[in-house]
Amino acid sequence: DKKIGLTGKIVIGMFGGILVGILLNLWFSAETTPIFYAVFVDGLLRIVGEFFITSLMMLVVPLVFVSLIVGTCQLSDPSKLGRLGGKALGLYLITTCIAIAIALSVASVVKPGSNAAFADAMEGSVSVAEAPSFVDVVIDMVPRNPINAMAEGNMLQIIVFALLFGIAMALTGKAGDRLKGFFEDVNEVIMKLVMILMKVAPYGVFALLARTFANLGFGDLLGDLLKYFLTVLCLLLIHGFVIYPLILKLLTGLNPVLFIRKMFSNQIFAFSISSSNASIPVTLRTTTKRLGVNNSVSSFTVPLGATINMDGTAIMQGVATVFIAQLYGVDLSFTDYLMVILTATLASIGTAGVPGVGLIMLAMVLQQVGLPIDAIALIMGIDRLLDMTRTAVNITGDAMVTTVIGKSEGQFDESIYNDPTAGNEVS
Ligand code: ASP
Repeated sequence: DKKIGLTGKIVIGMFGGILVGILLNLWFSAETTPIFYAVFVDGLLRIVGEFFITSLMMLVVPLVFVSLIVGTCQLSDPSKLGRLGGKALGLYLITTCIAIAIALSVASVVKPGSNAAFADAMEGSVSVAEAPSFVDVVIDMVPRNPINAMAEGNMLQIIVFALLFGIAMALTGKAGDRLKGFFEDVNEVIMKLVMILMKVAPYGVFALLARTFANLGFGDLLGDLLKYFLTVLCLLLIHGFVIYPLILKLLTGLNPVLFIRKMFSNQIFAFSISSSNASIPVTLRTTTKRLGVNNSVSSFTVPLGATINMDGTAIMQGVATVFIAQLYGVDLSFTDYLMVILTATLASIGTAGVPGVGLIMLAMVLQQVGLPIDAIALIMGIDRLLDMTRTAVNITGDAMVTTVIGKSEGQFDESIYNDPTAGNEVS
């Protein structure tokens, strides 16, 4: 008999979870079956799901810090670091611009918000937090207090501190060498912990998805809102499964089908936990153990990408902006479109990869082109599934760029990439 690999088990967890969730949604509710609901959905499923997310998040800060230090030391030549950073930033920004440009063009053709009467019927307002300004984001990159940065999980600050620490270690000689051995050992132990967590991943994914789908309201998806939802969903799927593999093929010549296959379990993770940040341990593992990128590149590009690269989010924002403009009968000029591309790209740099944060960033984009921020209330109710899907796209972009950079820097093992089963067994 054939053994089912990790990907297979996670796929089973996903479909099982979605199916059970939909059945729960149809047959049970907190009102009609309160005891069952309290014990099973809000009890058992919640415990398993939260336990899974929390233990992943527990690893994010120590893993990013330690693996980045190890990675920086491995890059013997500090000038490489500048080039690496430049490439990563460039590719992350360009892919985001492409994503949002496609989203804007498609949305203005599909016209998801053509029914203007809808806007008149809208009631209620929304209070959204201020989006950070770009200058603040840049200034805020250097931590005043690194321990505080870690306690708050401020990814950019942790990255900056770890890079500086790693560079200093590489320059320190003997003491640096001793520390390097220590950090390498810690890194290995944390990766082992990630591997242990992967074993329970299928159950975690099952519980998270069953609970999410049990609580999902499908009833509001009508008319224009449905059109908006489907436009975003299709664009996300095309971006994740067609555009990224194409870019990868163009830039590296690697087999794109293998990339899709190897990313799939990682995408399911991100989909079920809705957070690029919490997915970092898994994305790091996928890029090193399955795609064959050396840790010296991926330890830098993966956490950076999870923090600043959100193509899926940019797609949602592009469609949402056009949708809201159409609802309110506002004609966006060509300059407006350029503004949207610019602000959405910048906004995605300043915001962490946590659930639902894309909607907050949308406020910044809407403001820029003079659209009412309250309109976010319209799409908030149906954002959950889109949030999950765009998170999967976001981390796929991180992994694609990581692979491109790894290959171009010669920090890449093609035999791992070409081995379909590499890293799919957990031992
Ligand atoms: N949840 C997304 C992420 O973590 C961000 C978003 O809300 O769009 O990547």
